[in-house]
Amino acid sequence: MKYRQPLFRPPAEADSLIFQVAYGCPHNSCRFCGMYKSVNYETRQPDEVINDFRKSAKKHPNTRRIFLADGDAMILPFELLQQYLTELNHLFPRLARINIYANGSSIGRKSEDELKALHSLKLTTLYIGLESGSQNIIDLANKKESVDNMVQGVITAQKCGLRCSVMILLGLGGINSSKEHAQYTAAALNIMQPRLLSALRFIEVPGTDMYSKAETLSEYGAVLELKSIISELQLERTVFRANHTSNPVPLSGRFPQDKERLLAKLDYLLKSNTLSKTSIGRRPLSL
Ligand code: SF4
Repeated sequence: MKYRQPLFRPPAEADSLIFQVAYGCPHNSCRFCGMYKSVNYETRQPDEVINDFRKSAKKHPNTRRIFLADGDAMILPFELLQQYLTELNHLFPRLARINIYANGSSIGRKSEDELKALHSLKLTTLYIGLESGSQNIIDLANKKESVDNMVQGVITAQKCGLRCSVMILLGLGGINSSKEHAQYTAAALNIMQPRLLSALRFIEVPGTDMYSKAETLSEYGAVLELKSIISELQLERTVFRANHTSNPVPLSGRFPQDKERLLAKLDYLLKSNTLSKTSIGRRPLSL
């Protein structure tokens, strides 16, 4: 199948069959995100998308996992999502789950009955970028979402049987707002209780314009910030990962049982003198 570039998917979707139901991101305003800056958002013609489904079903009839791209596919009208999901269930008899990116506002546009109906058609995981629990930082980053909406979106989606994988961005508040970022992010996560949580680190890349070098959180600062967030987390059943290449060290575990182990590992690292206190440290291979 031919994809229009750039194409992104969460790391956990590496083995999924991907269909682009739209190109780009319908928001495309976040200052920290360079993903779709080169693309004008455009939804695809449904008959063209369904044609792609049919062609792929002939080649990959045993597909079990599907990811619908690009950004925030949840923003599509309920009837269209329902049509796509119904078609996929019909064409791929062994299908187990369909996953998408979503946002607080796009979840909020669906009623609980609609979310339950999508879940009954195997919509399973929603990947949601909370980024920060501080509304000041969200506004500074020009992410046009409210923290309250994102929190409510996760609570409602999970109540309707969907699983939310929430991403936070270490360093998004820069040096000056690191404490605020940690405190409010942990507070938002404690209310959300996401089933999955990923911590990535914000690093300036071409197309983003959050901070000057002097304001950017150092490698040491990012690890300290992660430790502050984890120490405040009261999660009852969450799988946690900070193993994206942007993190200074890979980390993973389950809450609540691994919380003390994660904190001990971060403490050890902070005392190790291996983290740069003046720069972002090793540049990640990809972002
Ligand atoms: S962070 Fe998400 S919502 Fe914001 S511009 Fe990037 S893809 Fe779009």
